[in-house]
Amino acid sequence: FNEIPSGYPDPNKTVIYDESEIIDPDTVPLNGGFIVKTLVISIDPYMRGRMRDPSVKSYSPPFPLGEPIANHAVGVVIRSENPSVKPAFQTYTILKDLTGLRILENKEGLPWSAYVGIAGMPGQTAYYAWKEYAAAKKGETVFVTAGAGPVGSAVIQIAKSEGLKVIASAGSEEKVAFLRSIGVDVAFNYKTTKTAEVLAKEGPIEIYWDNVGGESLEAALEYANKNARFLECGMISVYNTEPYPIKNLMNVVSKEIKLYGFLVFSLHEKYEEEFYREWPKRVASGEIKYTEDAKQGLKETGQAIYEVQKGLNKGKSVIVVSSE
Ligand code: NDP
Repeated sequence: FNEIPSGYPDPNKTVIYDESEIIDPDTVPLNGGFIVKTLVISIDPYMRGRMRDPSVKSYSPPFPLGEPIANHAVGVVIRSENPSVKPAFQTYTILKDLTGLRILENKEGLPWSAYVGIAGMPGQTAYYAWKEYAAAKKGETVFVTAGAGPVGSAVIQIAKSEGLKVIASAGSEEKVAFLRSIGVDVAFNYKTTKTAEVLAKEGPIEIYWDNVGGESLEAALEYANKNARFLECGMISVYNTEPYPIKNLMNVVSKEIKLYGFLVFSLHEKYEEEFYREWPKRVASGEIKYTEDAKQGLKETGQAIYEVQKGLNKGKSVIVVSSE
């Protein structure tokens, strides 16, 4: 992590690729731990929040300047001195124990990258919070923003499988076509069509899944039904700009809207085991569809971080470090 960005991260300055410390995986001392070779790393919107002045408090720790950044990844154990961790097959991380790790059996045979996307943290976000807060009923209408990303597209498919009408927005025609392909009833490009106009015609909405905040949230407040549930997942429209004063907030009172803010890791304990039992199967069967935007090699990390903030990613952004 080279420089704290002001505004959008700079692909060539904020995070830089550094090859100065390369280890030999066959000989590096493990000191009773084990060594993991990274296969694929996730690039997520929240990483922007970790690129901040360390004196500013937030829910996830700041990345220390001058140190490698970190995020969810899938890897294979290649050598182990820890009796509870066995090498699987054959950029490395040396670890002591399984704290913060999960052994993936992958009985479904999904591509490993799926476990940082649709079958990983973003999929969990959709699955957990929908169960916890949506209180969805067949025939209701839900509006989903950033619908073509891993969180939004999972929410859409859960909602369709439960018989809801889905309105969803995304930032390009290509993404809108993807939304239609996963069953969205009313898909639109929020850059060329006003969200408020779509909701005026297709609403009112009983559920709003908010990934973006800003004008979309204002429109959702305006066209919400009485007792609507708002699942406040993210507000990417303000991750790189000054805070945006939200209009229409009085609707929360007059329509008795329930606003649920949540963080995925707070819901792990309740839903994680159920998620791994149920969800990867639905993905592997083809019932739940997903798209990925894979870049090859750690060198691409800075660029991938920038693209996710700008919406240039076409599906879940991942860095493929090694193909085993
Ligand atoms: P995506 O892969 O969908 O990437 C983010 C997308 O947001 C971009 O591709 C872009 O799509 C859209 N976007 C960017 N800028 C704007 C803008 N100004 N206005 C509207 N849309 C914009 O990300 P994820 O699916 O991984 O995450 C979606 C949201 O969920 C994020 O806000 C993230 O922070 C949040 N999140 C929250 C979690 C929690 O625990 N609460 C956990 C995981 C994610 P487009 O082309 O459509 O504009």
